[in-house]
Amino acid sequence: MSIDRNRGMWNPHEETLTKEEKRKRDEKNLVMIFKHAYHNSQFYHERYRKAGLTAEDIKTFEDIKKIPFLRKPELQEAQRKNPPFGNNLTVPINKLSDIFISPGPIFEGVVAEEAEAMLNARCKAFYSCGARPGDIVVNTFMYHMVPAGLNIHLGFRRLGCTVVPTGVGQTVYQAIIMRDLGVTVFTGTPSFLAMIGEEAKNGGIDPRGNLKLELGIFSAEPLPDSLRKSLGDTFGILARQLFGTADLGTVARECPEERGMHIEESMIMEIIDPNTLEQVAPGEEGEITCTMPHKLASPIIRFRTGDATILSEEKCSCGRTSPKLRRILGRVDQLVKVKGMFVHPVNIKSVVEKHPDLGNYEVLVDRPHLSDVLTIRIEFEGTGKSLSKNLEKAKKELEKEFKEAIRVKAVVVLLQKGSITESKEKIVDLRKME
Ligand SMILES: [Zn+2]
Repeated sequence: MSIDRNRGMWNPHEETLTKEEKRKRDEKNLVMIFKHAYHNSQFYHERYRKAGLTAEDIKTFEDIKKIPFLRKPELQEAQRKNPPFGNNLTVPINKLSDIFISPGPIFEGVVAEEAEAMLNARCKAFYSCGARPGDIVVNTFMYHMVPAGLNIHLGFRRLGCTVVPTGVGQTVYQAIIMRDLGVTVFTGTPSFLAMIGEEAKNGGIDPRGNLKLELGIFSAEPLPDSLRKSLGDTFGILARQLFGTADLGTVARECPEERGMHIEESMIMEIIDPNTLEQVAPGEEGEITCTMPHKLASPIIRFRTGDATILSEEKCSCGRTSPKLRRILGRVDQLVKVKGMFVHPVNIKSVVEKHPDLGNYEVLVDRPHLSDVLTIRIEFEGTGKSLSKNLEKAKKELEKEFKEAIRVKAVVVLLQKGSITESKEKIVDLRKME
């Protein structure tokens, strides 16, 4: 098949809204979902009344700041107290089209109308990642007890693809199925496809020569550039990712530019400072917080996901106008504020992992006098593979790279191999020990 996987959009109208149009739509949706939840969900009604809000208090987009945030443990607690839905169900249970279970466990009711909105979001995401009508897709996401498998299945079907529900496991058999059916798209985790590649080779199947795979759409795990490249080399595929959660569905997806993930347009997203709960500016790290206007049966309003990201409003060459999540930085509770900036250990790890010259490392933050000092102690081999052999020069090179990755100056201390017993991926905060 020689199709252009890099052009066009599934829903050009939605995907090219101007900032003003989007804000107008968000405002209308916010007022609607707030009123709906206030009047029809006992859970939200009690919550908002307690906060002193009436159904008429949310009139403009700015009013979102009046609405209390919601965290997953609160939903879990509500469902424990008032099973099964924690009083957050706006229709009788037998009017639901589906009931999903997300990790927690949390029951989530869905009505047909919102199932349609979810399908639209998935089609936009899969198309943006490069899938096209006529593709044959193996869906290796789990089909039972989680929403992922079924929802992804239905999304590809709506897009016009042929879907093979293989689910998880059966590594060798997956490769045989892909070969025999001429599968063109793999969807699942990147580590699973890497494993299939290995097993295929062991079983005499050449992942490039014997398979017709052209595209991998990955989720549920990060896709670092190195893995994107190695999967591309092994299978001869485009490797693209999307970000979704069991509670929210598709949150953001990559596009042909492969530099960040466009936010799903139907969602009202805020990136907040987890300490002050204020919205942060684009380019700053913060927690993904979502309001889902299309979730009518079990509303989700100002839901703090616990995932950290950086928002980018830079114009994208693909033509989609929604802002991008530059990447998912991991869990927000691992963020450490240094010199007023959030630093996430994942960013430090990403630099260390680029260099074969480096070994174990540890990260310390301290405040010896009045200002914070971030120190990264790393084992250094000095083989000249990716950094200068000269200790002083290598240190300078690394300090420059860390500055770019974390936007805070770090002091690099290079040590002999064997000096650090194992990599400490968490930042040790010595300031708290005072
Ligand atoms: Zn784009």
